[in-house]
Amino acid sequence: MEIIIGRNQQTRQLNVVKDGAERVYGQPNSVPTDVSRHHISLQPTGAGKWIVKNLNELNVTFVNGIAIESKSVSESDKIELGNSHYLFNWDALQEPKVETIDIRPLKAVWDNYQQNEINIRDRQKSNGLWASVPLGFSMLGGLIAGVAPEIRGIALLFTGIAFVLFLYGLYRRSQDNSTLELKANQEEFDMKWVCPKCKHPLTCFRSITILSQSDACPFCKTKYKK
Ligand SMILES: [Zn+2]
Repeated sequence: MEIIIGRNQQTRQLNVVKDGAERVYGQPNSVPTDVSRHHISLQPTGAGKWIVKNLNELNVTFVNGIAIESKSVSESDKIELGNSHYLFNWDALQEPKVETIDIRPLKAVWDNYQQNEINIRDRQKSNGLWASVPLGFSMLGGLIAGVAPEIRGIALLFTGIAFVLFLYGLYRRSQDNSTLELKANQEEFDMKWVCPKCKHPLTCFRSITILSQSDACPFCKTKYKK
């Protein structure tokens, strides 16, 4: 099992090829240009020992400050790549940890959003109901006045009730901020319905059920713990 170390041409990070799998290590643009794409190879020889090999005669590699072509090393040795002495970090050989992120708090975000939406819409509905009640009473008043003029007093009473209810309905609607509340609820949801890791909006997941079916963030690829 030979590991090839070099410089990633795109990201200019340290490139590590191990078992045919390529990955990068370190910050972007952290590896100088005098480190080539295939700079050294590392071959484990057991008991924490490795053979480091300079892969190209144009490459320069130092072990503890001395230029080498091939040398037996251990992880306490200092390997530097290129004339700018880029220090090779042995941690680059560690398997990257698979990071997971807990998405269960998003369930509360979703439930809260849904519940608020239901509450606001229920209130809107009852306001609509209150708007139609006075009409009923005033129709009843008119009906009584029409068919039984002798009980006009009752007809007037119904019309009076209709008027009071009309005023009450008007008052309720004047106190009603439901359109604003719906908007605020949506805005709060949009703000919190984001990947806990990269903060990218998760609008592509239109419900907690759909989100729960996903294994990882489609943007930062962090695995989801459910
Ligand atoms: Zn993400």
